[in-house]
Amino acid sequence: MTATAADGSVLYVAGWGRSGSTLLAHLLSSVPGIVALGEVRSLWDRGMLEGRPCSCGQPADACPLWSEVIRRSGITRAEAEEARALHRRLRTRYFPRLAVRRLLGRRDPAMERYVACYRRVYAAAFEVTGARALVDISKHPFEADRLCRSPDVRAVHLVRDPRAVAFSWGRTKATGEDPAGAGDAEETMRRFGPLAASAMWLVWNLAVEILLGRRLHRVRYEDVVAAPERVVSEIVDRAAPAGGGDQSQAGPVGIAGQHLLAGNPDRFRGMRPVQADVEWASGMSSADARLATLPALPLLARYGYPLAPGRARRRGWSG
Ligand SMILES: [Zn+2]
Repeated sequence: MTATAADGSVLYVAGWGRSGSTLLAHLLSSVPGIVALGEVRSLWDRGMLEGRPCSCGQPADACPLWSEVIRRSGITRAEAEEARALHRRLRTRYFPRLAVRRLLGRRDPAMERYVACYRRVYAAAFEVTGARALVDISKHPFEADRLCRSPDVRAVHLVRDPRAVAFSWGRTKATGEDPAGAGDAEETMRRFGPLAASAMWLVWNLAVEILLGRRLHRVRYEDVVAAPERVVSEIVDRAAPAGGGDQSQAGPVGIAGQHLLAGNPDRFRGMRPVQADVEWASGMSSADARLATLPALPLLARYGYPLAPGRARRRGWSG
C-alpha cells in the first residue's frame, strides 16, 4: 500500500505554538480539495486515549471523519499508547539529544515505528476525505523533519512576532475540551511567562530552520492576516499544486464541516472573517514586551520583525 494518495500532498505546518496555525488551517481548507485535519500528533493521546472532542464537538471515535480515519488506518489502542509514549521523546528538553542523533545519522527504530503510524493516518485521511491535500498543524520540528523526508509531505514554516506570541502564552485560555462530567473547574491551556515563551519561540523556530532548511516555505502570521488570499495561493502553488488528475472529483466525500483535532480552542468557533489579533499591542506591558524581545533577538531581523518592542507594538496596531 502506498503511504498516501498517489498525487496528494500533506502540508505540515511547523513552528511554535500560538502563531496562528488554526487560522491558517481554516484558510487553506477553504480551497476546494484541501482538508484541514488539525494537530494529527494529538490523535494518539487527546484523540484516541483521552476522548477529547474534535472541532465538530464529538470525541474522535464518534466524529464522522476521525472515527473513519481511525478505523481505516487500523491503529489499535496499543499502538496509540506506544505512539503517545514515543511522542513524549520529542519534548523540548530532549531536543539536544535528538539533534545529536540526527547529526550522527543514527537510526532510530522506535521513531521509524512512530512515523509509520503517522503515515497510516495520513493514508486513511486521504481515503476518507478524497482530498488532494491535507493540512496537519502539528508544528513539531523533529516530527516535520522525519515526515518531510517523504516528497509528498511539504513543510510550511509559520512564524509570528514573538511579542504577540508571548502575550498569547501569558493569557488564561480555556481549552474548550472539558469532557462531560469533568467537574466544575474548567481546564485551561498551558501558560508561559514572556521570557520562557520567547525562548521557546527561538528554540522551536531555530530547530525548524536547521532541520528543514531549504525544504521550508515560510509564512508570517502578519502576512496571513494582511493578505490571506495571496498567502494561501502561494502555499497552494508551491506545496499543493493541482495535479493532472480530474480535480472535479477532489474534495471531501460525504463528510461535512470542519474536523480539526486539538490546538487552539478557536477551532470550535468555525470559520470567521480574517481579523488580525492585535490585542497584545495595547495589552502587553512594556516590561513584558522587552522580556519577550530578548531571547528572540537572533531571529527577529531574519523574519522582518522590529528589534525595538515599541516599534513592534506600533506596527502591531496598524495590523
Ligand atoms: Zn469531527
